[in-house]
Amino acid sequence: MNLSLEAVEKNTNKLAVNNPGIVELHSLGISAEGRDINAVYITDKRVSLAEKEVAVVMGLRHGDEVGVVPAVSSLLDWLVSEDGAEIRRRQLVIVIPVVNPDGFIKQEFGAPRDMISDTENKYILPLILECQADMLLDIHSLDRGDLEAVITGHTTHLGEDDLIHGIATGKMAEGAAAAGYPYVIHTLGVQSRAPWLSTPRPPRNPSSSYNNWVCAPAYEQLHSLVIGMEVNSFSLNDEECGNSGLAAIVPLLQLGNTRSFWEYAPGYPNRILRGNIHISLRASGQNAAERRKSRAELWQKREFFSDPIKIMPTTHNIKASIEYSGEPLSNAFSICCRIRGNPGIKDIRLNGTKTDYYMVADNCSSFVFVDVPPAVAGAYEVSIDL
Ligand SMILES: [Zn+2]
Repeated sequence: MNLSLEAVEKNTNKLAVNNPGIVELHSLGISAEGRDINAVYITDKRVSLAEKEVAVVMGLRHGDEVGVVPAVSSLLDWLVSEDGAEIRRRQLVIVIPVVNPDGFIKQEFGAPRDMISDTENKYILPLILECQADMLLDIHSLDRGDLEAVITGHTTHLGEDDLIHGIATGKMAEGAAAAGYPYVIHTLGVQSRAPWLSTPRPPRNPSSSYNNWVCAPAYEQLHSLVIGMEVNSFSLNDEECGNSGLAAIVPLLQLGNTRSFWEYAPGYPNRILRGNIHISLRASGQNAAERRKSRAELWQKREFFSDPIKIMPTTHNIKASIEYSGEPLSNAFSICCRIRGNPGIKDIRLNGTKTDYYMVADNCSSFVFVDVPPAVAGAYEVSIDL
């Protein structure tokens, strides 16, 4: 594979020419040394963007990680193929093949290791914030050992984020293993111990950070599902790096087309903002765009919400409550309560007034959702009579 910047640009141009209804090229801006930073937008233009999830995939933040080139190339080819049709129909996937063209030209690690670069600050982060990315995937590559990894880098312990990032990376590792690639799942703490060395060194800094800083603000500001990964260009050739990367990435993209069992709508599972699967504060909305807006606002104001509480005064009555103490909200939120089994619901009230609700059931439980219109500070209680 030709690993030059020119070759990457030639391939993306060809992709756009050959797939006019699917692919658009956008220049995000100009690097410090005057090179274009290009993004490839892939989607089925016949479907409204408001109905779609938005995924952003970044490659080559670190200019010498050459295994990223075949991984991104395989992904682009897959996305325009027949196999990628359902992803295109239900998602906009924005791929930035070379985030750091100046580093790539020199084949140097390049961008500042532990801080956001000017390029990221000026062009990449604004794109992510503007499109309110539902998912952000950051592809890196190792040039030693035989490790391939997916990284659950950017989570807090709020909501069910530890669990959900684990589920997402678990699907990636499973898909890759089925194709013959033994990915491991790393949290940040593990990554800092250099597990590709035979004798892991002790971490120099126990709170060591992941070295792509666009990931941190995407999670921090939007509650995007943020995943990192490392392919391996030492033990695998270009073709294998491409196959390996794709085998791990496709299950993640498919998660964005799937309804997770605790969700009402399909999409990347990033809408539990406080609480847990039992009782939670959720983003709300009639379509993907509304849910994105609701999610971003609620997450930015998460400190003003109490953890939701569920109590059962009797076996036939459930009370779910949450308090909000911030400025008036612009978007609705949802209170979601999981109920054991599939009992009939006699009455649901929000702060004492009969209210609409919607629900989704599985074989052992029912998830009941009550939407609260754009709210002011106060206490909100849902009472459910069974
Ligand atoms: Zn890297």
